[in-house]
Amino acid sequence: MTAPVLFIGGMDSSGGAGLLRDCATAAEFGVLARVAVTAITAQTDRAVTAVQPVAPGVVSAQILAAGQIAAVKIGMLCTAPVVQAVAACLPNAPCILDPVLRSSSGHDLIDAAGADALLHQLLPNVDLLTPNLPELALLARLSGCAARHEAARVEGLFRLGCRAVLVKGGHAAFGKVCEDRLYLPGAPPTPFRAPRLKAALRGTGCQLASAIAAQIALGRSLEAAIGGAKQAVQRRFRAAVDQESLPSI
Ligand code: PLP
Repeated sequence: MTAPVLFIGGMDSSGGAGLLRDCATAAEFGVLARVAVTAITAQTDRAVTAVQPVAPGVVSAQILAAGQIAAVKIGMLCTAPVVQAVAACLPNAPCILDPVLRSSSGHDLIDAAGADALLHQLLPNVDLLTPNLPELALLARLSGCAARHEAARVEGLFRLGCRAVLVKGGHAAFGKVCEDRLYLPGAPPTPFRAPRLKAALRGTGCQLASAIAAQIALGRSLEAAIGGAKQAVQRRFRAAVDQESLPSI
């Protein structure tokens, strides 16, 4: 029996993103889930109306209670004390960090000190970071990297100790294909492509990172896990496109 995946992140009351999305993804891949809640949020698909961080000691206690873990996926961290609590008791397992900085509705989901702690205290423990293009730009700026070129920005993150970076291309303004690129130190990036589908869908970043973590737990290689995760997100996009094209009664 595969050990569970530990999801460390926020509760999104709307269920679109966050830990509910993570757990749904684990179930899709037939993997057990443990959670450590870092923040409680009240949200609709259009706005974040309240955020309450969880006390750092309670976050650590949840992580320690999770027991033996096959992989860890981290999402919303909210504040620097929560980042520090997570960094101090991370289980010894492959760790995927989705750097949740802001909701698609435009609300900051981590404060400035938290983002700084994420870069300098958590990143050295991360096996795979999964920023989208705006997150990569923001993390580069916060880390003092003035480069505009994607590969140079990723290089800056490697210097902070991160071991692999998957840059998600969904926010690129053009093209019929959505291309994500996996960067490993000293190698050219590996592209992962999927048709670009237009649908109002939240929690795609959470789903992608969770699906990667679930498949790593199942023993798949990083490349196979990313390919399978992109297919899972694509299935949800297709279902949303079909739903949106139904005539309203
Ligand atoms: N709320 C929580 C708890 C999240 O973890 C995330 C993203 O990871 C969001 C909100 C933002 O999701 P979206 O960008 O789909 O609005």
